[in-house]
Amino acid sequence: MTAPQGIDLHRHLEGAVRPATVADICRAHRIELPTYDPDELAELLTVRKPVADLAGFLVPFRTIKLCFVNKEAVARIAYEAVEDAFADNVQYVELRFSPEFMAFYHKVPLTDVMDGIVQGVDLAVGRMPVTAKLVVSISRDLNPDTMQMPWPSPVELARLAVEYADRGVVGLDLAGKENGYPPALFAEPFRIARDAGLGITVHAGEDAGPESVREAVEHLGATRIGHGVRIVSDPEVVALVRDLGVTLETCPTSNVLTRAVESLAAHPVRTLFDIGVRVTVNSDDPTVCGIKLSDEYALVVREFGFTPDELRTLIRNAEEAAFALPHSL
Ligand SMILES: [Zn+2]
Repeated sequence: MTAPQGIDLHRHLEGAVRPATVADICRAHRIELPTYDPDELAELLTVRKPVADLAGFLVPFRTIKLCFVNKEAVARIAYEAVEDAFADNVQYVELRFSPEFMAFYHKVPLTDVMDGIVQGVDLAVGRMPVTAKLVVSISRDLNPDTMQMPWPSPVELARLAVEYADRGVVGLDLAGKENGYPPALFAEPFRIARDAGLGITVHAGEDAGPESVREAVEHLGATRIGHGVRIVSDPEVVALVRDLGVTLETCPTSNVLTRAVESLAAHPVRTLFDIGVRVTVNSDDPTVCGIKLSDEYALVVREFGFTPDELRTLIRNAEEAAFALPHSL
């Protein structure tokens, strides 16, 4: 089967950096890495087996963050992320990123991070027939109270996202540690984003239970949920998501690695699809998960028997839930 043209609604820029680029930038800036060999580094940055919890999955990001040294580096990373998506037959990708996470280690100004990403994406889409849009992620657990250093508040990040709405930012996301940081705490930044016309997606039902999905929908106005796989344990939340037409951005390999699901066989993508939930399949973190979007499509065909028609429905679900118009559909 030839791979269909893909749409990726859930791809973290930080999790899509090429290992060779991490090595390259760190070597040029004399930043110590365990290895500068791209293959060895790729192995270190890939989570191969399910981890104990979400925190375990985030370990490679401690290394990846070392390469966010300045605006030029960030522009290169954004350019390459679009190039890699295009090479994998992706025609529309939303790259989400946490501006403060990318800024903090080397104290890069937030506006340099934003401008660098915009610059890299603009250059790439000017050269390739692909649409790439941006989603700003608020990290739940990184905030002025926990960081003990000058740090943007969720409201400031929402305003930053709105400020860049005419330069490719199409949505606001909530990411990071779910437990202890319920969606309702973030009502104000998400109101700001909604009022400005940005799309709303929230990581929920990955690390926390179905209630987090209900809260994301009811309190933050999320029309898309990052993962959401844990809703299967609550028929009421499943019905809510289905009846409101909320789209789930599932990421099968990532969901197994983070233990959002017990095993691949237990992944609810087929069950939810069959009962009419708007399911999509996405990559999450290509580098950290060691996959491409086309691998995830192949996976649902292989493991869950999705037919070519059903695969097209998954992709159409993504097209309809995209925060901007895909390229030449
Ligand atoms: Zn994610």
